Amino acid sequence: MIDSTKIKEQEEYIEYLAGHDYLTNLPNRHYFMERLNQALKNNEAGAVILFDIDNFKSINDTLGHVYGDQLLKAIALQLKPLQTEKVLIARFGGDEFLILCRGTEDLSEISDFAKKIRRQLHGGVMIDGVESYFNISMGITCFPKDSSNLNQLIMNADTAMYKIKRSGKNNMVFFHEDMNLEMKEKLNTENILRDAIKNDGFKLLYQPQVESATGEIIGFEALLRLKNHPIRPDVFIGVAEETGLIVEIGRWVLKEAVGQLKAWDQKGFKHKSVAVNFSIKQLRDTGYIDYLKQLLFEANLDPALIEVEITESILLENNEETFLFLNELKKSGFRIALDDFGTGYASFNYLTYIPVDKVKLDKSINDKFLKHENSDVIESLITLVHSLKLEITAEGIESWDKFEKLRFSKCDYIQGYLFSRPVEADEIEKIYEANMIDLIRKSEASE
Ligand code: C2E
Ligand code: MG
Ligand code: MG
Repeated sequence: MIDSTKIKEQEEYIEYLAGHDYLTNLPNRHYFMERLNQALKNNEAGAVILFDIDNFKSINDTLGHVYGDQLLKAIALQLKPLQTEKVLIARFGGDEFLILCRGTEDLSEISDFAKKIRRQLHGGVMIDGVESYFNISMGITCFPKDSSNLNQLIMNADTAMYKIKRSGKNNMVFFHEDMNLEMKEKLNTENILRDAIKNDGFKLLYQPQVESATGEIIGFEALLRLKNHPIRPDVFIGVAEETGLIVEIGRWVLKEAVGQLKAWDQKGFKHKSVAVNFSIKQLRDTGYIDYLKQLLFEANLDPALIEVEITESILLENNEETFLFLNELKKSGFRIALDDFGTGYASFNYLTYIPVDKVKLDKSINDKFLKHENSDVIESLITLVHSLKLEITAEGIESWDKFEKLRFSKCDYIQGYLFSRPVEADEIEKIYEANMIDLIRKSEASE
């Protein structure tokens, strides 16, 4: 009697072990898959939610594996109250957790539940009496809507979670079919970028910036291209930012741009500035300024020949860090331009306390406000920027009449197809000292 009870208990225990995770005591992957399979076989509707902890690797590396384990346990404990007959919470492995919700495919209901999980963890957990905070990235897929295949569902959730990871983490998203294609394209672009870094696959084009009062070229914007692929810069720059490759690429741009300045200097051309674009993700590159300083020092050129174009988005995040970075740039003698002005959220208030020299009015703003007879808005904008003792460049100017209006409104500089598209350095040399207004007039007269 006693023996058979004991054996039965042991058997049950072994079964429990087979279906549970030793660390967190949550159901494990095997158990989860069985349950999901059951639900699919019964033609139930539901959702699979996959999440993991942002930067878990660095938590493990800096605070130790014991701490990492404690964190996983604490998360499991925190989530247990959400477990119901319809909700199964499992540990998938590593720092990944899987949640099975059965009985509904209603997006808002599932979304509410997912948010509840996030809230439950958002307040942090206690480890050794100390509150510890972390973020999670979450992907959600629904069945049978997205798929009725077990493995496909897990892959979907993973794809959605990966998308969140790449777009800045700490969020959640529902799987969508387009994600697979998007992901493929991004991975493809990422490989192209990696290859370009290794095999000299980038080049810079230069677009003249023309002083509107005189027609003289005062400098150039360096714009990055892939030598062997027609992928648009805003597309591959986006991937470079998501993958962190922008740091290495950004340094290549600096080296190439300074090299070009030096080449023009040696050919006896008059000094003109080159503007390089700086992405918010490059704030991570803490050696950026020193590297740039070193390049100019070695080339024996004035730092003022380099203008760093930042965008408004940089002002929204990491305010303290950004402020220090910009001041350091300024202190080192570089010039700073605020790019794409008018497209984001930057207020004039920013302009009063960040050390910019120049504002670049975005093409969309110019298109919108130079369309009609009346260009009062642009004129006021220019006056306002001038009253802050800053210079202003209008970007994306393609027509003579827009240029005329801007010149009349005292816009300092013009950059746009009207004068030149971005072109190779040797093309630039042909117009380097030309008067662009005369050049346009002549070419129009000859047409
Ligand atoms: P951006 O910095 O605002 O650069 C201006 C963009 O407007 C360039 O596009 C330029 O070719 C385009 N453009 C100039 N004049 C005209 C015009 O008259 N009409 C029209 N339709 N477009 C005009 P591009 O070269 O495709 O670059 C797109 C964006 O990619 C850049 O916008 C910049 O944000 C980013 N980018 C380019 N090179 C780099 C780089 O080296 N580093 C980083 N971080 N970003 C870069
Ligand atoms: Mg720019
Ligand atoms: Mg711009």
